[in-house]
Order: sequence, then structure tokens, then C-alpha cells
Amino acid sequence: MSTFVPHLYKINSMTIAENMVVTLNYKLSNHKTGETIEETTPEQPMVFLYGVGGIIPRFESNISGMKVGDAFDFHIEAHEAYGISDDSKIAMIPLHVFHDEQGKFDHDYFTVDAMIPMSDGDGNQLRGIIREINEEDLKMDFNHPLADTDLHFSGSIAEIRTATADEIAHGHVHGPGGHHH
Ligand SMILES: [Zn+2]
Repeated sequence: MSTFVPHLYKINSMTIAENMVVTLNYKLSNHKTGETIEETTPEQPMVFLYGVGGIIPRFESNISGMKVGDAFDFHIEAHEAYGISDDSKIAMIPLHVFHDEQGKFDHDYFTVDAMIPMSDGDGNQLRGIIREINEEDLKMDFNHPLADTDLHFSGSIAEIRTATADEIAHGHVHGPGGHHH
């Protein structure tokens, strides 16, 4: 009679779908120039709840049905990623708005291309990039920093698990890589 020995690992045959928690590694680059924009590390992969609208919809649809170990390599055009820049999101703001308590404008902090945390009249947080600084005002661009950029993603799927009921109710991941509360 033969002896059967179990392998001490389970094959994860789950595929990426709604209400799954996905861990993946990726490199994001500018599709046109090849310049790297950001890259995860094995210690800090991207962990997210699939299908709740937290990330670019086209990114989610491109990895739908993938399994652990699957690799991806695709690009997403700007209009399906962070959009096309909109002139109505560019504002001239008087310099005095940025004055410190001494009534001075900090030329070391507020420089062209600096990204500045701001809030609008309704208290919403947003970030603006300074495009120009004049004598009296500056031009601030509130478009997404990756507007007009075709994105190229390459990477692979590291882990897939079903989300807990709490995670689904909260719409985000708990534990490693997610919320701790
Ligand atoms: Zn939560």
C-alpha cells in the first residue's frame, strides 16, 4: 500500500474580484517618457479592497480575474487615469494669503513647482502646485499632479484573500497595509 504525504501548503486559487483584498507590487512610470513615478517595495506593497472605487477603475478592470503570481504590464491613457488638466482649476491667489504671522512671504517655502496643502472655502483639503510667482500674486494649479499623464503599470499579484465583513462595511482594508482602528 502506498503512503500519501500531504504538501504543507495550500494553493491559493482565488481570483481577483469584488470584496477581495489584493496585495500587489507595481512600478508606475510615465508611459511616454519611461520615467519612473513611483514603485512599491516588498516591505510596503500596495494593499487594497478591490471594487470599492479607491483606485483607477481601468487599473482594477485590467487585473480582474488574476491569481497570485500573475504579472501585469499595461498602460492607461490620461483621460482614463487622472484626467486632462482643466484651466478652471488654475487660480491666481494674492501673495498676502500666504503671509506668515509677521506678514512675510516665505520665498524658501513657496517656490515654483512646490506642492502646497490648501483648503477651499468649504474646508475641503486639496493640494496645489505653484506655477508662477509674481509681485502681487501667484498662479496655483489644483489639477492632479498626474493630469495629462499616460500611466504605465507593471508588477505582479502577491496575495489575495476575501475581505472580512467589517472591511466590506468600512470600504477599506484592516490590518497590515490598511487601517488600524
Ligand atoms: Zn475600518
